[in-house]
Amino acid sequence: MQYQNGKRYRTMSQYCGEKYGGRIVKIPLCSGATCPNRDGSKGFGGCSFCSGDGGGEFAPKQPISLLLQYEEGIKFNLKWPDAVKVGYFQAFSNTYLPIEQLEAMLAQTAKLPDIGGIRIATRADCIDERKADLLAKYAEQLPIEVELGLQTIHEQTSQIINRCHSLEEWQAGFSLLKQRGIYVCAHLINGLPDETEQMMLDSAKWLAKQRVDGVKLHMLHVIRGSQLAVEYKTQPFELLSLEQYVEIVCKQIRIFHPETVIERLTGDGAKSTLIAPTWTLNKRNVLNSIDKRLSQLEAWQGDRFEG
Ligand code: SF4
Repeated sequence: MQYQNGKRYRTMSQYCGEKYGGRIVKIPLCSGATCPNRDGSKGFGGCSFCSGDGGGEFAPKQPISLLLQYEEGIKFNLKWPDAVKVGYFQAFSNTYLPIEQLEAMLAQTAKLPDIGGIRIATRADCIDERKADLLAKYAEQLPIEVELGLQTIHEQTSQIINRCHSLEEWQAGFSLLKQRGIYVCAHLINGLPDETEQMMLDSAKWLAKQRVDGVKLHMLHVIRGSQLAVEYKTQPFELLSLEQYVEIVCKQIRIFHPETVIERLTGDGAKSTLIAPTWTLNKRNVLNSIDKRLSQLEAWQGDRFEG
């Protein structure tokens, strides 16, 4: 695999060039879905790191039509007017919608003017056969990509962060999508409470074996409004330093298959809501540090992939 732009891993921009023929712009859309880990069907209070906006800080908050949301989103895209437009349902668990509503959401989005693809964030336990079939049906019309939060493979950590789904449930939802040829990007969080470096690497190794299409690697953020923020205020706990994070992420990049898209290596959280760690705000510095360390190690994505 040849990597572009001087990188030692397959970036999102390389993938978009290959798949969409150039740059994409994600237009945030809100489906109105909630989350089974908030409404009581799986749990209450949500994951301890989630601030209550469902991980979609840039998503529209008003329940307005998808067309209006889309038009509003396009107005803000002054920088790349010619980029391929991808409708991005980022907040909450979008396939948690009843199937009729999910179908209406997909049908309306597919008809938006000039739309080039749909990206949907959700939980793996909100995918069943019928919903996977529905996504596959629309994937025949335009690219559909699904983001599944995994965060960790370790049950003990899942309980600490109140994740309220098991690894088996995650794998079942993932398999339903993969059997239908749908692109899946998984999220992992580094620095979760009580996790050692080895545990984080084991999560990456397990995910690499699943041959996930894309991965977003995050540093644990303590965000205002989350349960973690309450715990951090009561009893501040140690978070990974920039140096520790870079070291771990470089090892994880080496573990993933050479073709997995490394969609994200650092968080994109809003400055106004971030409590700690503040080094993540300098995104450029984080990315440069990762590039520099990979180069020092003469390391490449996939050179430690175990299959
Ligand atoms: S992170 Fe996702 S799964 Fe967890 S509470 Fe927030 S929306 Fe629900």
